[in-house]
Amino acid sequence: MKRIYLDNAATTYTNADALQAMIPFFTNEHGNAASLHSYGRIAEKAVSEARAKIAAAINAKPQEIYFTSGATESNNWILNGIVRNCPHKRVLVSAIEHQSIMETCAQLEKDGYIVEYIKVGSDGLLSMNDLVARLSKPASLVSVMTANNEVGTIQYINSIASLCEQRGVPFHTDAAQALGSIMMNVKEMKIDALSLSSHKVYGPKGVGALYVRDGFKVDKFMHGGHQERNRRAGTLNVPGIVGFGAAVEITMRDSGVNNGRIKTLREYMISQVQEKIPNVYLNGHKTQRLVNNVNLSFAGAEGEAILIMLDMVGIAASTGSACNSNVLEPSHVLSAMGVEDGLNQSSIRFSLGRNTTREDIDYVVVELVKIIKRLRSISAVKAK
Ligand code: PMP
Repeated sequence: MKRIYLDNAATTYTNADALQAMIPFFTNEHGNAASLHSYGRIAEKAVSEARAKIAAAINAKPQEIYFTSGATESNNWILNGIVRNCPHKRVLVSAIEHQSIMETCAQLEKDGYIVEYIKVGSDGLLSMNDLVARLSKPASLVSVMTANNEVGTIQYINSIASLCEQRGVPFHTDAAQALGSIMMNVKEMKIDALSLSSHKVYGPKGVGALYVRDGFKVDKFMHGGHQERNRRAGTLNVPGIVGFGAAVEITMRDSGVNNGRIKTLREYMISQVQEKIPNVYLNGHKTQRLVNNVNLSFAGAEGEAILIMLDMVGIAASTGSACNSNVLEPSHVLSAMGVEDGLNQSSIRFSLGRNTTREDIDYVVVELVKIIKRLRSISAVKAK
């Protein structure tokens, strides 16, 4: 059976060159990067090179990059590492953050901290008025994701970070989905901390990074050994880090070509679906969105049912965010954008990738037309 993967926002395959770069560090060069002998030094050198590549991709200094197990850990670290020891027990985050921010905030609230959720508009863009109003009182941190994983809306991070700087409030952004899709420049954008994930940019899973601006004090989150200049304990995942570095380098090198092609396919898919299926709504900002994100609500058809039927014809997509797809709850992102529950629960996220072709999109559109017709006819029968 044909298999088409349109779930690249959930995870990507590992780039073949990145994989090749990793292999020696599983086998002959298996040293611990903290060891003093030659094995350790070779591992440490490879980690340093990867650090430099990742720093270069966001215009940071290598010593401002700390390796973690992924963006989930980076997000947990920054919130806990700032908020828990700051005199202001108040943190501001957008209402559409990833679960790794939302659940950490829920825990902070249980522990007596005040978390405020900054509103977004119907296109997913942050309400600057709401941010300004909330910044009138002291806060420990503002965290707003660069690009949303469900609807793909890209925030005006420059303006948000500048406002925070003017008010003297540190600013963190989760750029897990954004890296490679848009240019990130932590210095120009005045970003104090930024989370990254390897497996969104064709690197291996289970590795990520937190950028922390030099001089910005963030408490330790993982306790143990003195790795990562004594700021993040735990033996480094050397093969993963090497793969992450290689994947980022390749992503940055090829982003112009890849993004242009993928964006054309995105626009083609949206127009084809809207032309061939009535009552379909695009979620998220029309233009200010990730090049690979197509999030659509199919009125009168249930998202989970669409997903299962797509899977039956070999098409992989997602409802809400991947981490939520076993939970039949409306997406908190679409709710925050004011999408009513019916359309919320009829939404599907297609996320295109480097190997997506026009033929793939044509196949998906043909299958979608059939699936939506069938589901709508069933629901019409039920409604009678
Ligand atoms: N933030 C965003 C915006 C994401 O899309 C993801 C991955 N779904 C994460 C954080 C978590 O990243 P990781 O899988 O590396 O922990």
